[in-house]
Amino acid sequence: MAFWIGLDDTDSRKAGCTTYVAAVAMRRLEALGARIVGYPRLIRLNPSCPYKTRGNAAIAFKVEGIELERAEELMRSVVEELSELDEGAETGIVFLEGEPDERLRSFYWRAVRELVSLDDGFKVAEEAEAKLIYYGSGRGIIGALAAIGADLSLGKTYELIAHRRREYWGTVRRIDPVSVLELDEATRPYTFDNIDPESGEIRIAPHTPCPVLFGIRGVDPEIFEKALKIIRVYEPIEFVTIFETNQATDVHYQRLGIRDLRDGVCAVVEGVVTMQPRANVGGHVFFKLGDGNGEIWCAAYEPTKSFRKLILQLIPGDEVVAYGAVKQKPQGLTLNLEKIYIRRLAEKIVERSPKCPECGKRMTSMGGSKGFKCRRCGAKLPEEYKEISRVPRAIKPGFYEVPPSARRHLARPLMLDELLRDNEHRQGASNLI
Ligand SMILES: [Zn+2]
Repeated sequence: MAFWIGLDDTDSRKAGCTTYVAAVAMRRLEALGARIVGYPRLIRLNPSCPYKTRGNAAIAFKVEGIELERAEELMRSVVEELSELDEGAETGIVFLEGEPDERLRSFYWRAVRELVSLDDGFKVAEEAEAKLIYYGSGRGIIGALAAIGADLSLGKTYELIAHRRREYWGTVRRIDPVSVLELDEATRPYTFDNIDPESGEIRIAPHTPCPVLFGIRGVDPEIFEKALKIIRVYEPIEFVTIFETNQATDVHYQRLGIRDLRDGVCAVVEGVVTMQPRANVGGHVFFKLGDGNGEIWCAAYEPTKSFRKLILQLIPGDEVVAYGAVKQKPQGLTLNLEKIYIRRLAEKIVERSPKCPECGKRMTSMGGSKGFKCRRCGAKLPEEYKEISRVPRAIKPGFYEVPPSARRHLARPLMLDELLRDNEHRQGASNLI
């Protein structure tokens, strides 16, 4: 009898990583004669969820060839050995015999697109007859249940994670940056987010003391063989695990009208720019978007770097589709931009004083609609003589996104759009235009 094991919240602020705990557990299960069926899953939930564990992902994998009770015993011992239980981890382990039903699937969708509570988690677990082992409040069961219920039919990507040997944890990762550039060059776009093109930063290695040496994201697991031949690291690798994931799939977005937006949802909103974008002292750029039924603030925060320059070029009247997470802020509901599609640019009109018909000097406005006066010769012209000219726009319609360093795990990089469009079913969220 096959069953699913889900796992989440094994890490503390300092260290740990659920991918590592799961990778160890899977290897120990295999040592007992169990088989892991298919790829283990690495599942990201709604980035606005208050229960999320510091950016870490929940894991689920399917096991067969072992008694459930033996697997429970093993999972308990691995978690008690490796989970950061003394540092505040509230690990949840979920066991589900057979396949997840509709209730678990819908729990996943709520966890990835909306907000779910721990009570919801316990209720769904009971209804699904899932078995739970948890520590502290058991906050980790939310991610563990969602990872088991995850529906990857709308798109998935893969991540190869190389873990470090324990004696190297906390030390500087010795990865040859040139080899990462080579890897990127040779395998892109089948691998992605290896490097931030704007800052040149290497994106495959974390900067935390966690057990991950590097993670390579890809759209096809076959590409990892090639990538591993190219990358050069100067420390032994403990083991390498390939996960299938919902990262870079845009599944967190819902297409919503402005009046239906709520705190905590991730949304795709179509509208017209109604207020000239402006930067505040912190370098954050804000503008207002309206759709006839309401208005919402949109923000491109400082970490989105050059994306802000694009946003500052928008003017009232521009038609756009905005993607991002909705948050309640002091100024009101605010959509934190992750990407934007500029559908149509408004005409940028500039008005200025006419030249003097007598002497050719640029005239001065007399204010309001009183017309113009020449300061040199005193000639006057009525208001309707003002010059109206169209200024060419500095930006073009199309898709724009924040740099990789500011992008959420779930947001799909634009470079993957064309690559994935042909072999995926769409559900209206991503290629909504
Ligand atoms: Zn004049």
